Parts: sequence; structure tokens; C-alpha cells
Amino acid sequence: MTSPDSLPMVHVRAPGKINVFLRVGAVMDDGYHDVATAYQAVSLYEDVRAWPADDFSVSFTGPIDTSSLATDGSNLAIKAARMLARKADYRGGVRLEIEKRVPIAGGMGGGSADAAATLVACDALWGTELSREELLTLAARLGADVPFALTGGTALGTVRGDHLSPALAKGQYHWVLVLREEGMSTPQVYEELDRHRERHALDISPAEERPTVDANVLQALRAGDPEMLAESLSNDLQAPAIHLSPSIGEVIELGEMNGALAGFVSGSGPTVAFLTADLDSALDLQIALSAARLTAVRAIGPVHGARVITD
Ligand code: ATP
Repeated sequence: MTSPDSLPMVHVRAPGKINVFLRVGAVMDDGYHDVATAYQAVSLYEDVRAWPADDFSVSFTGPIDTSSLATDGSNLAIKAARMLARKADYRGGVRLEIEKRVPIAGGMGGGSADAAATLVACDALWGTELSREELLTLAARLGADVPFALTGGTALGTVRGDHLSPALAKGQYHWVLVLREEGMSTPQVYEELDRHRERHALDISPAEERPTVDANVLQALRAGDPEMLAESLSNDLQAPAIHLSPSIGEVIELGEMNGALAGFVSGSGPTVAFLTADLDSALDLQIALSAARLTAVRAIGPVHGARVITD
């Protein structure tokens, strides 16, 4: 009999993301919103290990409490593996083990990173050799943030966030992320945004149908200048996220009082991302936030997308 240790294993690492800009357009006929976003992949990673198996299974390790996560066919990693198997007409399965560091429902695209890493891992494990374009097409079917978890770096996303174009970007940014154990439901945050817009319809200009990323964000990314980027960070989901969870606002205030250039909600929250001037300020901020009993981790960005790691 073959021992599990002698089976081939593929290890893929995929990054979490921060939306340094997120504008949400008007509700479309299908009930969804178009968005315009600038993504940055950051060094908070999901590590997916894949072994050949007859069927499909997933288990989790790492610092995050994953007891709430389904491990059946509704898990994004299993969905990704099954989708690839169907596309490539592969008859076997896979055993996946995911070392999770990106918080669940945290607004950092952790599930999307799992799905992207699984596509790359199964493609390598099964020798299906799909092209980059084919993998990106499968990724977009799995979720709006999955294509970006494949490409990584810095990119602009339009429509649902899944139509990617590369952004000219240089430099390295130092982030401090305040993670929470309890997540936030993305659809609920969007519903709260719609309610907010209805309540204030007379005071605020109507949401655009085709939102775009502000020019000053693109300029800051091109310049690689954290001060400039701090001034142009913007997220339409921040106000509704704070409305649903007011303590997010207090966390932002605390970080900004302790040296952050800017603090803002990542994606649909509740993770708060602080941009700092350099590594020293990031270390100081991490200490100050940890002293307030918050879970604060440092990350740099941009980093690469999902790729095979040679152990
Ligand atoms: P985004 O920023 O892309 O909106 P998120 O970071 O807020 O996403 P995720 O952790 O990616 O949220 O997942 C959202 C939901 O998807 C979770 O509430 C969970 O029930 C479900 N899910 C399915 N598979 C996974 C997975 N492998 N990891 C995390 N969540 C998963």
C-alpha cells in the first residue's frame, strides 16, 4: 500500500488583498452593483497543499478558527477543484489542506485566495496544463475576487471587480491589519449601502452606473508614494460597515492617533487596514494596537499572486 507521505504533493501560496480604492456603482437590473476598485495583494497568505485522492476533501490548519466553515461541496476550494476537474475531464479527486491566515468573511478575499490557490495546485498536481486565460476564466466563474488572487500585484478591477487590468505601480507599502474573529457578510454591507443611499438621496449625488478609479489613486500608485496614497484611499463600503459595527470606527481612530498615515476598512470589512510611512512606523503601530488588545499583524504589498512553492 502507498503511504500518504510517498504521494506527490503540490504546495501553492496565494495572497489576501486590500482594496485601496473601492467605488460602488448603482444597483443594476440583476440586483448586483458594478464596482471600480484598485486591488493590492498583501503578504497575509493562504497555503494550500494538495495530494491526489479518489474523491474531493478539504481540511484547515493555521491560526484562524475555521470551525464555522463548511468542508463539503459548498467550500470554495472544493468548488474550484471540481470545476477544474470538469473542465479538464479529469476523473480523480484531490485532498486539500489549507493553512489559513486570512480572516473568514474579513473583506480580504481569503476564500477567493483558497479558490485561486486550489486551481493552480490541481492544475500542477493533475498535469492539466490549462493556459493562464483558461484559469482566469474559471476563476471569474468562482467569484469576483478570484481572478485577482491569481494575478496578484496591483491591479484595477471593474464590472464586478473581476475585469482586471494591470496598474502601473512601484514601491513597497507597509500595512498593519487589525483582524477580527467575527466576520461580516458582504451582501449585508451592500444592502446597508443601498439603504444609506436611499435615506440620503436628496443630499448625495446618485451613484454612477459605470464607476471608475480616481486619477489621484493611479498617480499615487505610479509614484509609489505612501503619503500620496494615504490621501486618496477611499472605500464606499466603509460607512455602511461602520454603521453595522461602530467599533470599526473606534479602531480607525486609534490607529490614526498612533502614527498611521490613514486607516480604512478593507473591502466589506471588518478588517481595518492601516497604511504606514515605513517599517518602523508599522512596528510602532502594531505594538500600540496590540497593547489595546487588538489582533494586529503587519503585511507588505504588493506581492505576487497564487503560485507553486518548492518546499
Ligand atoms: P471578499 O472580500 O472577497 O468579499 P471575504 O474576505 O469577506 O471576501 P471570505 O472569507 O473570502 O470573505 O468568504 C466569504 C464566505 O464564503 C464565508 O462566510 C464562508 O462561509 C464562505 N466560504 C466558502 N469557502 C470558503 C473558504 N475556503 N474560506 C473562507 N470562506 C469560505
